[in-house]
Amino acid sequence: MKAPRFAYARPASVAEALALLDRHKDDARVLAGGQSLVPMLNFRVAAPKVLVDINRISALAGIKVTKTHVRIGALTRHVELERSPDIAKHLPLVASAMPHIAHPAIRNRGTIGGSCALADPAAELPACALALGATFVVAGKKGERRIAAGDFFKGLYATALKSGELIVAIEFPLAKPGSASAFGELARRHGDYAMVGVAAHRSAKDGLCAAFFGVGDRPKVVEADDADGILSKLETELEPRADLHASTAMKLHLAKVLAGRVLKELA
Ligand code: FAD
Repeated sequence: MKAPRFAYARPASVAEALALLDRHKDDARVLAGGQSLVPMLNFRVAAPKVLVDINRISALAGIKVTKTHVRIGALTRHVELERSPDIAKHLPLVASAMPHIAHPAIRNRGTIGGSCALADPAAELPACALALGATFVVAGKKGERRIAAGDFFKGLYATALKSGELIVAIEFPLAKPGSASAFGELARRHGDYAMVGVAAHRSAKDGLCAAFFGVGDRPKVVEADDADGILSKLETELEPRADLHASTAMKLHLAKVLAGRVLKELA
């Protein structure tokens, strides 16, 4: 099937993009890497009247390391995160998640902002953002606001973004000395969305934080002092839904097995 008719705008700045989003309100949709939106248009799951293509806005792209955090522009593509020495050094959890995201052709175009705005419950980057305590920098008509990752993901394909808002960047705090992270996922084929996944982070101050994905309507954080504490909570804290791949019981079982393996790496 072909996409329904739409108007197309290619702003050169964040201000111009925000003006377009404000003018067209819910009739407009941001186009980033297009790896999810374009199939949605072609399947006619989405039918926006105006596409606001942000690909020419250089201010939205790139990775910057400061004294306190790593700031990743919303338009930074998966492949850049995968290959960046700064990400490997400062955000090894994100680096280890990248090869699990789809296939190279999709990673060449897909963006971190698109992935988090879409909020697929089986996606890797939202779980990494939660585990690492990231902050979303969001711009709208009234200026910028910051949303903690824990408040950003609201449900199945639902986020705290309001109509007319754009993710500008995602800021990940720099890891404290003595902290460590580990990542794992189970998928039918490498590159498929996860059946079950876990992004885990341990810090001396806050203990262990494991963000599970693929097992609910949004990524779910489970925290405890140690691995046994996390494992003992899974039965009550995770509510996986049965899908084409596995029953609820099977998913819970896989989550426990995977968490056991991943958390062992952090022990
Ligand atoms: P787009 O498709 O351009 O946009 C997606 C949505 O986000 C749209 O609603 C758009 O309006 C909105 N949006 C985009 N950018 C912004 C912004 N800056 N501010 C506000 N809203 C914005 N992803 C995974 O995580 N794991 C996988 O295993 C995986 N497998 C895939 C397999 C296939 C076959 C395909 C086609 C995709 C897969 N993806 C997977 C999705 C891929 O990672 C996409 O890149 C991602 O979901 C969307 O990013 P995008 O930049 O392409 O966004």
